[in-house]
Amino acid sequence: MSEVPIKPSVEVKYTQLLIDGKFVDAASGKTFQTLDPRTGEVIANVAEGDAEDINRSVAAARKAFDEGPWPKMTAYERQKILLRFADLLEQHSDEIAALEVWDNGKPYQQAATNEIPTVIRLMRYYAGWADKIHGLTVPADGPYHMQTLHEPIGVAGGIIPWNFPLLMFAWKVGPALACGNTLVLKPAEQTPLTALVAAKLLHEAGLPPGVLNVIPGYGPTAGAALASHMDVDKVLAFTGSTETGKIVLELATKSNLKSVSLELGGKSPFIVCEDADIDKAVELAHFALFFNQGQCCAAGSRTFVHESIYDEFVEKAKQRALKRSVGDPFKEGIEQGPQIDDDQFNKILKYIKSGVESGATLESGGERLGDKGYYIKPTVFSNVKDDMLIAKDEIFGPVQTILKFKDLDEVIRRANSTHYGLAAGIFSQNIDTINTLTRALKAGTVWVNCYDVFDAALPFGGYKMSGHGRENGFHGLENYLQVKSVCTPLVNPAWL
Ligand code: NAD
Repeated sequence: MSEVPIKPSVEVKYTQLLIDGKFVDAASGKTFQTLDPRTGEVIANVAEGDAEDINRSVAAARKAFDEGPWPKMTAYERQKILLRFADLLEQHSDEIAALEVWDNGKPYQQAATNEIPTVIRLMRYYAGWADKIHGLTVPADGPYHMQTLHEPIGVAGGIIPWNFPLLMFAWKVGPALACGNTLVLKPAEQTPLTALVAAKLLHEAGLPPGVLNVIPGYGPTAGAALASHMDVDKVLAFTGSTETGKIVLELATKSNLKSVSLELGGKSPFIVCEDADIDKAVELAHFALFFNQGQCCAAGSRTFVHESIYDEFVEKAKQRALKRSVGDPFKEGIEQGPQIDDDQFNKILKYIKSGVESGATLESGGERLGDKGYYIKPTVFSNVKDDMLIAKDEIFGPVQTILKFKDLDEVIRRANSTHYGLAAGIFSQNIDTINTLTRALKAGTVWVNCYDVFDAALPFGGYKMSGHGRENGFHGLENYLQVKSVCTPLVNPAWL
């Protein structure tokens, strides 16, 4: 790229671990570099937490849970702190958006007008739940008063990825804190910066020390120590790749059988039926794949198009990809920034090579853009077959694969023929077709004539190897709650 990247108007204020309400160095004194994906240059050196720091932070979270005040506060008090946090996020949203873009490379417009507002809405949504969590009185078959109490679980752990750093922070922190748990969170090593700022703001909002601890560091050290920690109770919420999800689950099971909610990868079908408005379908399929540089677990990464409109669709999808504006994510009007890092960049280019070698038709892109940073040209493949690697693996990049189908039964079978089951998109104007597909597709979320619409109130999670458990909505609270049954004799049977 010839253009000179714009220097973001934001400073990096926090680079240490946050333990027990204080910023501290790693016990080892080690740091790691977080890089600007636009250039590969160092943004900051960040304290590198490992097992020793996880021990320190779990101890702080344990104390804050067992001795309080967090789980012993009234729900209304907790709610007010979470609401104040949302207000502070709103006040600081420009600088947080800029920091997110610097560390991650996503377009500023997307971060500022979509993601940060979504984080704020999510925190307010879960703040709203804090004083509405309650048990039931249960009808008994005898002289007993029976009831359930919904209690926080204790110390929760969270391991989050780099593709939506602050949003994934909120998906764990919002429900866990609303229920009265304490938390140790490990951000992804590629994007540690916004979690530290957000955690600092939570403390400014009144969060007591030890309730939320943030430990930047690597997966096999800090992440594994958290997953296998004996004093992390019952729940560990993980978002990331299916391979790492398996490791995390094993570590959790082998240690203290803590339960794990997993939100993993996907290879989601986006199905364009013969009656679809082609121009709208092209635009939506483009968005479904290229949003966030294609680094989206729910990306519509297999575009199935009915044979009657296939050629026209492919031509229009190619033209749309050629028009996509790629460049410095701080510049106005940019739709696509760089990929997160060198590893992902090289992995995506390898998949593109494999697509060409396996006989798919490269319609656009297929190579890096510029000679600095991790930019990849929007890539479209047609004539893709189900057994090609590009149709099977999660590429996690700006590579659209377009497949042809003949009828509904066939597309249902092929769409479901994957180990994944995170999301699906349907583009049709026929209500019968829509009803058939929404029920037949094995996916945790089905978007009809829209895509990537997330809401704090709508549960999200996967079928099959895309994970288990649900985040968001009421179901997101269930991960962080114990149900206790309480039974008391009734001494006056006349009032049974
Ligand atoms: P990853 O799953 O390895 O990393 C996600 C998180 O897990 C990070 O915080 C990481 O530090 C941590 N982690 C890694 N190894 C760990 C271990 N042994 N124990 C505990 N925690 C560990 O993902 P990645 O390497 O950053 O990306 C690889 C692929 O994962 C991508 O190409 C993409 O396909 C997929 N991915 C999916 C999502 C998603 O939202 N589903 C997000 C990021 C990446």
